[in-house]
Amino acid sequence: MTAPIRPQPGILDIALYQGGASKIEGHAEPLKLSSNENPFGACPAAVEAMGAALSESHRYPPTDHGPLRAAIAEVYGLDAERIICGVGSDEVIHFLCQAYAGPGDEVLYTEHGFGMYRISALACGATPVQVPEAERRVDVETLIGGLTEKTRLIFLANPANPTATMLERGDLDRLADALPDQCLLVLDGAYAEFAEGYDGGAALVENRDNVVMTRTFSKAYGLGGLRVGYGYGPQHVIDTLNRIRGPFNLSGIALAGAEAAVRDRDWVAECIRVNADERARLTGGLRQLGIACDESFANFVLARFADEAEADAADAYLKSQGIIVRAPKSYGLPHCLRITVGRPEDNDRVLGALASFKGAE
Ligand SMILES: *Cc1c(COP(=O)(O)O)cnc(C)c1O
Repeated sequence: MTAPIRPQPGILDIALYQGGASKIEGHAEPLKLSSNENPFGACPAAVEAMGAALSESHRYPPTDHGPLRAAIAEVYGLDAERIICGVGSDEVIHFLCQAYAGPGDEVLYTEHGFGMYRISALACGATPVQVPEAERRVDVETLIGGLTEKTRLIFLANPANPTATMLERGDLDRLADALPDQCLLVLDGAYAEFAEGYDGGAALVENRDNVVMTRTFSKAYGLGGLRVGYGYGPQHVIDTLNRIRGPFNLSGIALAGAEAAVRDRDWVAECIRVNADERARLTGGLRQLGIACDESFANFVLARFADEAEADAADAYLKSQGIIVRAPKSYGLPHCLRITVGRPEDNDRVLGALASFKGAE
């Protein structure tokens, strides 16, 4: 008898990732506000560059992502040698777990933290450890209290998804100061562009040898379908991650699109500006309807209803009006709906529908 075929420990504990829905029966073109995508579409300069790159599809792409790393470094004032590009920042998160956490190690994240942290930790055989938040805000003291001699990684999205709240620089410093020697802090900056004046943690990376920042082209740059993200960290970490990165992980088309997007500073700046205005309007409009909402630092808002039943009813009503939002039940927020900030006319539709919903209750 041979041993049965079975996956490594931890793998079967992974619940499949649930993406934002994109279809409603009976609505040919629903308004999709469920995945924090850019409501203005893909960066047009990226689309043009990708079109030009198509005819080079018989060529293997560069293995070192040199031109893209150079563009990111130039635009954001980073050191190109300490950037690693991945198939979305999800892949960089996975590299980090693969390189630094295994059986017996702990990967720390918070109560409402992004779902990929747990998935990547389990995929590597490590133990995911969740610490509570305080009213939808990460509490640094609680996080520090969760550190043990087994903690190898802490994942913290700032601004956070799905809460849209964020920690200040002083809190991040305190957390980084408290890290045990064997522990890396990963600041997931998927929404950093939307938090005015925030560098995503880049300065913290510069000053320490145990902090890594991840960023993505999926949100502000409108390229979620292209799958490009990157990590920025100490040289020893980036060199380690590069050993496990596939040599051709990013296609030539993806590299061309992302490079054009990062160089087109005006387009993304305008998207961020409109998002800030519309986010304030959506937040104010929800509160006026009696729907509680924390201040958002991202491109979505978290609407809080009286209870799960009311959130379900609101979700169903929005769907009946052709609007898809996200019910973040698996994030421990069953009484909430996460609504991506849309174009002005989209947000009018959301507020109008919720006003009718509240009026009919
Ligand atoms: C969207 C998102 C990401 C980005 O994932 P990609 O793989 O880069 O598309 C990362 N972290 C958080 C918290 C997110 O919401």
